[in-house]
Amino acid sequence: MKRVGAHVSIAGGVENAPLQASNIGAKAFAMFTKNQRQWTAPKLTTTSIDAFHKNCTEGGFKPEYILPHDSYLINLGSPDPEKLQKAREAFIDEMQRVETLGLLLLNFHPGSHLNGINEEQCLQLIAESINMALNATTKVTAVIENTAGQGTNLGYRFEQLASLVDQVEDKRRVGVCLDTCHLFASGYDLQTTEAIDWTFKEFDRIIGLSFLRGMHLNDALRPLGSRLDRHASIGKGTIGMEAFSYIMAHPACEEIPLILETPDSDQWSSEIRLLYSLVE
Ligand SMILES: [Zn+2]
Ligand SMILES: [Zn+2]
Repeated sequence: MKRVGAHVSIAGGVENAPLQASNIGAKAFAMFTKNQRQWTAPKLTTTSIDAFHKNCTEGGFKPEYILPHDSYLINLGSPDPEKLQKAREAFIDEMQRVETLGLLLLNFHPGSHLNGINEEQCLQLIAESINMALNATTKVTAVIENTAGQGTNLGYRFEQLASLVDQVEDKRRVGVCLDTCHLFASGYDLQTTEAIDWTFKEFDRIIGLSFLRGMHLNDALRPLGSRLDRHASIGKGTIGMEAFSYIMAHPACEEIPLILETPDSDQWSSEIRLLYSLVE
């Protein structure tokens, strides 16, 4: 079945995330494992971890349906050696937090070259960062998110994502999360069934659908190819509903987290119902 959910808050502790997800009728969820605007965080307590497990079990959330997201501060392709080192340490810490929670996925944005190095050099640094993090952990899969291509962010072309996957040593522990808003903003048309079908086939040809480990379902505020990362509620943006019907029916989207990151959290439960109604 399809596992639709949203990126829920961890206010009051990570154990509250599955409760929030249950409250909105979600069958999957995304979360941060710490304050995403800070470099460091206190270790997760046993009480918090146990409560998280209990709440996940009660809500029917298996680790496969939970897609933690790393901090926005981390740039795994930073041209500045000191900042790169800091980012790598923080990323390894995030991967270890995910393992401590018994989870299997960590979703992150690849990185930005900041005009300090070229794209290829930046992709190499990012891949090296991923390899380091995989070597420092045992179970977590690094799930690279496609980006809108805003500023100097890489990962906005399938070829860039493929280059990263190619350079990762352990192919079993690398995957991709496709964000519909980012796809559209970076120039991949999704407005009609034909258009999104072409986009999925391109992804399959260049990367491989077997690497698809999650999706972010967001409509877009701006037009195709805007390179601007502005999310809109489902059906209220420039992508429209055909893309979401296609995703809700696609076999490659079965049993992976399909996560709303839409701006109005009050709408999440109705957006989830709307998405399921597309395949009823
Ligand atoms: Zn996203
Ligand atoms: Zn975004």
